[in-house]
Amino acid sequence: MMDLDVAVVGAGFSGLLALHLLREQGLRVHAFDAAGNVGGTWWWHAYPGSHLDTPGEHYQYRVDERLYRDWGWSERHPAGYEVQRWFRFAADRLDLRRSLSLRTRVTSAHPDGGSWRLETAPGGPVRARELVVCPGRRPVEPAVDTSAFAGLVVRTAAWPEDGHDLSGRRVGIVGTTPATVQLVPWIVDRVASLLVLGDEAVDVVRRDNPVYGWQEREDYRARYADPVPAAPVVADRAAMRARTDDPRLVPDGPPGTATLDDGYLEAFARDHVILAALADLARVGPAGPEMADGAVHELDVLVVSDAFDAGPPRLAGIADGAGRHVVVARPDRLPYLDLPEQVTAVVDAIVGSTVR
Ligand SMILES: Cc1cc2nc3c(=O)[nH]c(=O)nc-3n(C[C@H](O)[C@H](O)[C@H](O)COP(=O)(O)OP(=O)(O)OC[C@H]3O[C@@H](n4cnc5c(N)ncnc54)[C@H](O)[C@@H]3O)c2cc1C
Repeated sequence: MMDLDVAVVGAGFSGLLALHLLREQGLRVHAFDAAGNVGGTWWWHAYPGSHLDTPGEHYQYRVDERLYRDWGWSERHPAGYEVQRWFRFAADRLDLRRSLSLRTRVTSAHPDGGSWRLETAPGGPVRARELVVCPGRRPVEPAVDTSAFAGLVVRTAAWPEDGHDLSGRRVGIVGTTPATVQLVPWIVDRVASLLVLGDEAVDVVRRDNPVYGWQEREDYRARYADPVPAAPVVADRAAMRARTDDPRLVPDGPPGTATLDDGYLEAFARDHVILAALADLARVGPAGPEMADGAVHELDVLVVSDAFDAGPPRLAGIADGAGRHVVVARPDRLPYLDLPEQVTAVVDAIVGSTVR
């Protein structure tokens, strides 16, 4: 049986950092992730158009100056595949892979005689004194039954790395989450038709995404010790209205934090793009969405656009108990700031208890 000081569940932004910092303390640590590679949610959400809204220079580990300085983003808000490349770079540089089991789910974890016993699949049982759970936020799909649809159903939260070829296909998207905002501009030129079944309008701000050259890279390298804080992006409704004639695309009420977009609003002015209200959906039939007025939208592919669960973390099979530490991004905080703080606090607690 694998015998550890600390078992880490998850190899995303939090889990990899926990693995590195705990191993630096000389502890026997191993991480497990059901995903096929490092990067957590970025590995799962590999849909076209996925991007960082946070400037890339902030989405870094500040644990090793060379790790920071030897990387360079190619644009201010990197695409998801570049974020994944950064995770792979960090895992290799910090030599994390020798302490990591990918495609391995922790199916249960229970206190057992003063330590923790984990069951992993595939793999055997694991014993660990402490357990650090970095499971991320659960995806939540819209409450639409797609089981009768004869075409392909795809979830944004389970979009394979090698992708789905949407070229020339009739595509529908259920729900207007940030994933929809990111996806639409990147597929609109390729698909034969695009239907968006929107539940609500979303605040967006056009992404200003300059390509980074040498000067930006030098500026970035100089800021390791002194990061410039990222300003929160708040929607400008007048700017949104100037971009679209369709009032259904502009939310009412006070402007909220905006998702950056690459031409989301403009996409709806295209002749082959239709916006329909999810509330008017009667059912999804074999051919596609059937609307309350009898219209049927025939589709080849139905994309289910996942949001994130903001509630308490759901830890299937993982019991509560002494020595369990859970790290999950809090809804009111920016994850890239919040997660390293939480991980550091957990590492301090574990190291403190080890020394005592
Ligand atoms: C498209 C997209 C854009 C984003 N943009 C930003 C941004 O601009 N700024 C920002 O700060 N944040 C952003 N985020 C939020 C992002 O979730 C966080 O930044 C961060 O990546 C979360 O890391 P995590 O390690 O906490 O969780 P995750 O990355 O979700 O990793 C959790 C991992 O745990 C694994 N896991 C869970 N349970 C088990 C189990 N029982 N057994 C094995 N493995 C398990 C999962 O497979 C998963 O890989 C974005 C997210 C997405 C998807």
